[in-house]
Amino acid sequence: MSNKDNTDITDTNNMDNFEDTKTSASQNNKTDEYEKVCYICRRSESKAGKMIGMPGNIYVCPDCMQKTFDSINNSNIDYDDLMNNMSNMGGMFNGFNMMGANIPNKQKVKKKKTEEEKIKDRIDLRNIPAPHEIKHMLDEYVIGQDYAKKIMSVAVYNHYKRVATNTMDEIEIEKSNMLMIGPTGSGKTYLVKTLAKLLQVPLAITDATSLTEAGYIGDDIESVVSKLLQAADNDVEKAEKGIIFIDEIDKIAKKKETRSRDVSGESVQQGMLKLLEGSDVEVPVGATSKNAMVPQVTVNTRNILFICGGAFPDLEDIIKSRLNKQSSIGFNADLKDKYDNDKDILSKVEVEDLREFGMIPEFLGRLPIIFTLSGLDKNMLVKIMKEPKNAILKQYQKLLELDEVKLEFDDEALEAIAEKAIKKDTGARALRSIIEEFMMDIMFEIPKDSNIGKVVITGDYINKKGGPLISMRGQELLPMQREAQCN
Ligand code: ADP
Repeated sequence: MSNKDNTDITDTNNMDNFEDTKTSASQNNKTDEYEKVCYICRRSESKAGKMIGMPGNIYVCPDCMQKTFDSINNSNIDYDDLMNNMSNMGGMFNGFNMMGANIPNKQKVKKKKTEEEKIKDRIDLRNIPAPHEIKHMLDEYVIGQDYAKKIMSVAVYNHYKRVATNTMDEIEIEKSNMLMIGPTGSGKTYLVKTLAKLLQVPLAITDATSLTEAGYIGDDIESVVSKLLQAADNDVEKAEKGIIFIDEIDKIAKKKETRSRDVSGESVQQGMLKLLEGSDVEVPVGATSKNAMVPQVTVNTRNILFICGGAFPDLEDIIKSRLNKQSSIGFNADLKDKYDNDKDILSKVEVEDLREFGMIPEFLGRLPIIFTLSGLDKNMLVKIMKEPKNAILKQYQKLLELDEVKLEFDDEALEAIAEKAIKKDTGARALRSIIEEFMMDIMFEIPKDSNIGKVVITGDYINKKGGPLISMRGQELLPMQREAQCN
């Protein structure tokens, strides 16, 4: 192909673009945000160099173009014959287009920002909320867990301060990756979600149980980074300042007795080391697994905040036996069962307990901030139902308000719901399903009678000993009990 041919092709493409601009400016703006991707090797323009455009929005990078020429030169193909054949095929490029040569935006990365945009986007030290402000914001959503909220606020503040000042060269500020330990439904995921929302950074949540060593069935460890990239709308720079939450981290503890290769335990911990510390990883764009058809991009994890969470069952026993061993030695020997009834035992966790549990020292070393969340008691569950900004009761009240019906829960009802939730042993997670079960009937019955002005959910109704109190409009003071009407 001569140079002239090449130019012609590019020109035609420019013409196409011109047509596009005329027809749909907004659509074009959208594609303009993304880098061009080589149709052959799938590398982005920033990696592969200036793309050569072809009709049908196909781009090829200089390397691939050169390789194509080289292979044509080195082979015995009669070039003229080949071109003739291609034109007989009715236009290869149109064919390409029909085969889906247009790479979807989902698989493209956003263009790198200009220096000016970068300065505008840079996290400003003055804009990072102070730890007490972060905690105050968390307080509006998350009930209790004061210690966890405080520790997280300071860690996040320090982390973003480190990102903002880029203090990596002289005195290196250690990364504030965290490990949170707490029972199911105590608010681990909720805390991280709320934090990411308040700080307006992208967040990816993954389950450690789905991760396996590269090459085995399951998700590669690096897939967590590609999830974050998706959450950041394929904007690499945004993703590089995001948060990755890895739940159920206790499930990748080292197996005690292994005869086979531990592909989902210790080796996942090993594989995560370089991510936690900060390194360049090649991740697929728009997919969670790498394959030849998916473009890839390099993401640096140095400024990504990793938060790991887990319930760590049986950890209490490990802590207890350590404490009992310590306290039964020497002159200060205590009673042997001193810690058996200690409710707060989890908060006495030490790194050595986690090591005993099966987390490898190198992994723990990269999670310098370790803290625990407490199990939720009845009081906290009642508060969770009514106090947070988006509390579940407020949500139902709002729903019924649309029908101009006032909804109230009396104190006994809230306590009865909390007691039921405690029995289920899944923390606050059980609350929604319990309330939903009772509210289903109410939401079904109330709209039947437009005279109803107020509904009070009582303890008896929750305990299935009676019905809710219902009062008609204009008779607020004379509530009428409709026995089991809604049962
Ligand atoms: P886990 O600790 O298992 O990750 P989650 O964070 O997923 O638990 O909690 C489940 C749900 O329970 C959350 O979506 C949230 O609505 C509620 N929840 C749990 N703990 C709290 C809390 N301390 N304050 C407010 N809501 C909470």
